[in-house]
Amino acid sequence: MNHPNVPPYGTRPDGEAESAVMSTYRDLAFPAGTGSAPIGSRRAPALRTVGPRERRSHLSAPRVPTVGIDIGGTKVMAGVVDADGNILEKLRTETPDKSKSPKVVEDTIVELVLDLSDRHDVHAVGIGAAGWVDADRNRVLFAPHLSWRNEPLRDRLAGRLAVPVLVDNDANSAAWAEWRFGAGRGEDHLVMITLGTGIGGAILEDGQVKRGKYGVAGEFGHMQVVPGGHRCPCGNRGCWEQYSSGNALVREARELAAADSPVAYGIIEHVKGNIGDITGPMITELAREGDAMCIELLQDIGQWLGVGIANLAAALDPSCFVIGGGVSAADDLLIAPARDAFKRHLTGRGYRPEARITRAQLGPEAGMVGAADLARLVARRFRRANRRRVERYERYARFAEARRASQGSA
Ligand SMILES: [Zn+2]
Repeated sequence: MNHPNVPPYGTRPDGEAESAVMSTYRDLAFPAGTGSAPIGSRRAPALRTVGPRERRSHLSAPRVPTVGIDIGGTKVMAGVVDADGNILEKLRTETPDKSKSPKVVEDTIVELVLDLSDRHDVHAVGIGAAGWVDADRNRVLFAPHLSWRNEPLRDRLAGRLAVPVLVDNDANSAAWAEWRFGAGRGEDHLVMITLGTGIGGAILEDGQVKRGKYGVAGEFGHMQVVPGGHRCPCGNRGCWEQYSSGNALVREARELAAADSPVAYGIIEHVKGNIGDITGPMITELAREGDAMCIELLQDIGQWLGVGIANLAAALDPSCFVIGGGVSAADDLLIAPARDAFKRHLTGRGYRPEARITRAQLGPEAGMVGAADLARLVARRFRRANRRRVERYERYARFAEARRASQGSA
């Protein structure tokens, strides 16, 4: 049943059929006799109001300062970063508790951005969040340290900030930063592995972050390396991060200390018997001072790291692995054993080029710098979409003018 006042689909309110209008527009765009192209291909360019899917490139992104925000489990770091990756100003605050509502985290982000825009000309905001971000980079699907569950973070923030917002996973943004400004410069196939409490990761190919269909690619930490091995909070057993991460390092050290092993006397003395006080950075520090047990523990972690890297090389065949995260501060105490194990476990070893394994260069600011640099890509898209809207409006205005003129003369 048609409502008398509602025109049928395809007609304009004034009753003129839409298709007729479009064909007139087409005729204007391609006056008779000029177009030798077949009808089918003639249609497309005239009717297209949105350009072909943009090839986003950091090279053509505007060289404007942007804000990068790294939301980790304990700290929120925000900074203004210029187009060359230099940090112009940096702020830092504590991550709101998991029990707080998503709104509290949003408020924290907005406050930081407003504070920074008082002193800087900010063109876009990029957020690197410790959590799963969907493939559209709008929703945070899950964040272990925050109350976000399927949270449309980008849209929420875009409504509160006057500039375009980009949301990505923190490992992706850190990898981007290392590729643009750090250890991975010039590599077209790069895999980043961040060793923190667990293992995070990201894949970059030809200057693009590979996110997978649902946005959660790069969760290397939960690849099984030991069937029936240590229990992992993810629910499985023998995950890679149970053998090669800050948590694994501390767990092993505490186990040895609790068993009162003679090799652990150095570290037991260091914490004055309080085994719970043993931390990852402490183990690294003692290893540097020559403590045999700490050196050995880092070697173990490094070897497992090399085993996992060999698996990743079999699947992804990158030219470079960049090792970041807190544990990478151990540098060669960790990375040299990783290189050895990689060479011993690489499939087809001796018959294939070997990927470079290198330590990340940007440190704990990588996530922030990467998020800011990625945000420059949307700064451009935002401008371009606006320009297109204006162009489209002007085109239709000209068309309407021409129509009025032709009707007037008729
Ligand atoms: Zn796991």
